[in-house]
Amino acid sequence: AKEKGPISYEVFQGSMAEQSAKKIHLIAELNAAIEKNEFRIYFQPVVSLNDSQVIGAEALVRWQSGQRGLVAPGVFIPLAEESGLILQIGNWVLRESCRQIAERLGNGWASNFDVHVNVSVRQLIQSDFYQNLENILLEYHLPPHNLTLEITESILIEDSNVIATLIGRIRNLGVSIAIDDFGTGYSSMSYLHQFAFDCLKIDQSFVSRFLDNHKSEAIISAIIRLAAGFDVPLVAEGVETAEQAKRLYELGCQRAQGYHFGRPAPLEEWPQAWCGTGKA
Ligand code: C2E
Ligand code: CA
Ligand code: CA
Ligand code: CA
Repeated sequence: AKEKGPISYEVFQGSMAEQSAKKIHLIAELNAAIEKNEFRIYFQPVVSLNDSQVIGAEALVRWQSGQRGLVAPGVFIPLAEESGLILQIGNWVLRESCRQIAERLGNGWASNFDVHVNVSVRQLIQSDFYQNLENILLEYHLPPHNLTLEITESILIEDSNVIATLIGRIRNLGVSIAIDDFGTGYSSMSYLHQFAFDCLKIDQSFVSRFLDNHKSEAIISAIIRLAAGFDVPLVAEGVETAEQAKRLYELGCQRAQGYHFGRPAPLEEWPQAWCGTGKA
């Protein structure tokens, strides 16, 4: 399926006044999309690099718009963040991802299948986030060890005591925390000893360049050693070629995600070989 909506083109064209009018219009459309249940979840496989077996998936939201077709999150997520609609959309994504994966686990998928869900700062700092998370796990009987929440480094510059406590409670529940887009954000790295986490994800901007750029390779090698030092798995994102996968594995990276292994797709469209059942 084609994944480009015309939204970014639309929003960034014209004068300032025109741009904000378009934004307001889009926010109204997003509101209606929530009412009409137009969001869908696509799941992209995460593989183990030593045998290319699928070990989990990242949930990525899409807007299936009547008028616009399938819209990628790149533009409506920032708009949803700005308008506060991310709370409703994000909670729906968390709930629906857990529901769908719990159903598959009940149907024989590998019991260690790991679903990753993106959580935005605004969503995480809601006072009822923890309670909501616990309710969802109970309601769908999803074992907490099957869930990982992906947060970006920007979250870690929020009120650090509050966030550290919250992350501690979430991890006590058995849910894992992954640091997304590692290396791109506010990485003073001082937060790495304030916050416990269970997984690091290297941003695809490093992966896309590293075969012909020795600086990117140096950065990737350093992040691989950092993850090993913390004893947490590392996922390389945006792996598009066999050469990238091979080199990452040689450098010591164990997990990857990218078009080379599989594009995001609804679970109903997942090939049998990805389903973690062990049967091909
Ligand atoms: P992200 O969390 O870094 O997700 C990875 C993005 O890389 C996804 O884009 C995925 O489709 C894309 N990708 C995967 N493999 C490849 C590859 O081999 N090459 C290239 N060029 N790209 C690849 P997508 O689905 O368009 O999502 C964009 C961003 O939107 C995500 O980046 C994430 O920050 C945000 N997002 C998506 N779903 C949610 C959500 O449910 N909640 C929140 N808060 N943010 C979300
Ligand atoms: Ca992510
Ligand atoms: Ca886990
Ligand atoms: Ca990422």
